[in-house]
Amino acid sequence: MQNELIPDLQALSPWIERLRRDLPTVWLRPEAPPSATSLSVLEVEAAKARFRRFEPVLAALFPQGGWEGRIASPLIAADPRLAPDVAHLYLKADGELPMTGSVKARGGVHELLCWLEDYATAEGILTPGESPTKLLEPTARARLSNGRIVVASTGNLGFSIGLVARAFGCAAQIHMSRDAKAWKKARLRDIGAEVVEHDGDYAETVARARTAAASDGAYFVDDENSRRLFVGYAAAADELADQLAGAGIFPSADRPLVVYLPCGVGGAPGGITAGLRLRFGTAVVPVFVEPTLAPCFLLALASGDLVSINDLGISGQTIADGLAVPKASPLVLSLIADDVAAAVAVSDADMLTWVERAWRHGGLRLEPSAAAALAALAPLRDALTAAARELPAGTVHVAWLTGGSLLPDDEFSALLRS
Ligand SMILES: *Cc1c(COP(=O)(O)O)cnc(C)c1O
Repeated sequence: MQNELIPDLQALSPWIERLRRDLPTVWLRPEAPPSATSLSVLEVEAAKARFRRFEPVLAALFPQGGWEGRIASPLIAADPRLAPDVAHLYLKADGELPMTGSVKARGGVHELLCWLEDYATAEGILTPGESPTKLLEPTARARLSNGRIVVASTGNLGFSIGLVARAFGCAAQIHMSRDAKAWKKARLRDIGAEVVEHDGDYAETVARARTAAASDGAYFVDDENSRRLFVGYAAAADELADQLAGAGIFPSADRPLVVYLPCGVGGAPGGITAGLRLRFGTAVVPVFVEPTLAPCFLLALASGDLVSINDLGISGQTIADGLAVPKASPLVLSLIADDVAAAVAVSDADMLTWVERAWRHGGLRLEPSAAAALAALAPLRDALTAAARELPAGTVHVAWLTGGSLLPDDEFSALLRS
């Protein structure tokens, strides 16, 4: 159990006031960020090497699309009609990521690969240093079927881990809250994953899943406390840096890089932030974006404490299912809280507006969680202007569009209509 601190509710009341009225809400870090980072280059390099080792394996298990097993997404220069008043806007299209169609193909799949290597080595299926292509052989696969993985998820993490674990032939038990998207549960059941539904909120679902894993001797992917997830996301930073360099962009103090990162427990935005800080130092301006209905990271940053939105009368009932969590990961907070330049909370209505705009001006299929990144552009600019902290004219903006390409047609049309 986490040792939870009592937040200073008095200090939070102006924020809560705005959030309850569903208004865009912005927290700006009052001081400059530190120059030190909490992640080592070696850790990120190890993750990148692991992804490379598994390229032929993932390409064989997911032959669709003719990719080469490299988990990477396009960086797209935004159609100028998308956000006419934002110059130098780029879109990181993680919804197009292979296998899982969301940012979870980075962190979630990284943790799964870590465990697979550990498990296969411990069971004598792989000898240390041996190529994981051996895991494709029938005898290895038969033995992998004894491996069991358990995860709790609001949707995409369980979907991603379940999909990839089943492709390797492992048993996967996915704990979801009852209101998680029906199509994700159906798809998981179709591929032979076990889906366990819970009535409580996400924190409770995680607790139940943790207990189930412990009593079963299964490996538990702990969304609220995982360094393996975090490091997998961090590996995305070099990919973005290379793409920016390809476009002739080299972030610096005169040309900062603002990244808009949709945030649930903080693993994905936190890992990406840590990776970008390693690469670009203080030239990167990480902006975490959450729903006004589930703003746990904003409230943690504003109060300096781990806060549960449940204790503050905020529902967590947002259409952005990828971000619908009551509490930030304490691990992620301890690693990168000081690196986050701003936190922005946006309404469900604004996310839906941007789902529609991104479709109209770019043909992008976004889920609301991903559209949150775009919904944060205007509130952040307004808050910086009000604080007389305008960014230089050459500032580059990257909206990290974390998911959506696998949304079924009827789900997506319903979003466009609403
Ligand atoms: C999981 C997810 C996020 C946020 O990731 P966290 O690690 O929970 O902060 C953002 N967008 C989408 C689409 C996601 O699935």
